[in-house]
Amino acid sequence: MSTSRIAERVRRIKPSPSTSAADRANELRRQGKSIVNLVVGEPDFDTPAHIRQAAALAMDKGATRYTLMAGTVELRQAIVAKLERDSGLHYAMNEIIATSGAKSAIYSAFSITLEPGDEVIIPAPYWVSYPDMTLACDGQPVTVACPEANGFKLTPTQLEAAITPRTRWLLINSPSNPTGAAYTLAEYRALADVLLRHPQVLVMTDDIYEHIRFDGQRTPHFLQAAPELRDRTLVVNGVSKTYAMTGWRIGYVAGPRDLVQALDTLLSQSTGNCCSISQAAAAAALNGDQGFVGESVAIYKQRRDATLARINAIPGLSCRAPDGAFYLYIGCAGLIGKRTPEGKLLEQDGDVVMYLLDSVGVAVVAGTAYGLSPYFRLSIATSIEILEEGCQRIARAVAELH
Ligand code: PLP
Repeated sequence: MSTSRIAERVRRIKPSPSTSAADRANELRRQGKSIVNLVVGEPDFDTPAHIRQAAALAMDKGATRYTLMAGTVELRQAIVAKLERDSGLHYAMNEIIATSGAKSAIYSAFSITLEPGDEVIIPAPYWVSYPDMTLACDGQPVTVACPEANGFKLTPTQLEAAITPRTRWLLINSPSNPTGAAYTLAEYRALADVLLRHPQVLVMTDDIYEHIRFDGQRTPHFLQAAPELRDRTLVVNGVSKTYAMTGWRIGYVAGPRDLVQALDTLLSQSTGNCCSISQAAAAAALNGDQGFVGESVAIYKQRRDATLARINAIPGLSCRAPDGAFYLYIGCAGLIGKRTPEGKLLEQDGDVVMYLLDSVGVAVVAGTAYGLSPYFRLSIATSIEILEEGCQRIARAVAELH
């Protein structure tokens, strides 16, 4: 098919690799293969009842019309209170915009700030969408490999070396998708000291997994370590992961007036306000009983502990315990160079992932998608029974390599 009608900036990007991996697993399932799908990046819980009820009530009360572009007063008040409660951050209502998911917040923030060739520093491993969103907005992703030996985190030396006069953004995602690594306040402070020397650099904090923590710790916020950088920091968050609300599509940004104002203008001419009913649900999520968060995190922790132990018992695989989020980023260097029973050489993590899918029907995502190899990502956002079945199958497949 000809691509000539499609703009160059769109031809630069590719579909999300996790969506492609999920599609392939679903296709094999349709063909009758037994598939254990460990790809999915969304909670397997239902949205809590009080949140669904708030949405139903909103519909009954006629909240079915356009809202203010930035979001309803009720939702933005809930966001102001949430930022204060969780992180001690003070924002005014006019420094906040509700968006159709954190994803659209990040994309829109790039599109209002990036001139062609502007650079975005993306620590790797990274969420798959960051580089493509950068490219789609004419920017240049600058990925910095953050090895496991450094806890998959960016060091101040690496940051200093990556910054150029063209650097526009540093992206921070803590806890991270895919590694679960979370920065400490001291680590943030050290990064902030570098940033102070480079006033052209803005900071985007993607806090979407902040509440999914396994060590009982509250996730510190970058701005708690570096309050003086408030004027060049854009806080991005949403309700998708914390409240099992991926389908409701509510994210938000909090940041300096000029950025928020420009976002408001862009969104008012593109998407318009986000769904009025979902906004009511998100306000109920943020304002209401937070019991669901602790309960779901306790379940994720059980799954993490059980799956981590099983994976680390498989010769050739190793995994660092994630601090949060709901993924294991599993090192598979010990399998590279081995051969499958059919004699195929495993040269890279993509080969390992294909082998697991074809031989034992386990679907995971190759580390190449996240910018650091050889690894694969396994999602623990599924039942413990499915995770156990998946681990048993992986162990069987690995045992057959030679
Ligand atoms: N940021 C990260 C790191 C994610 O993993 C995801 C979803 O997978 C998102 C943002 C998107 O969140 P939302 O559903 O709010 O668009």
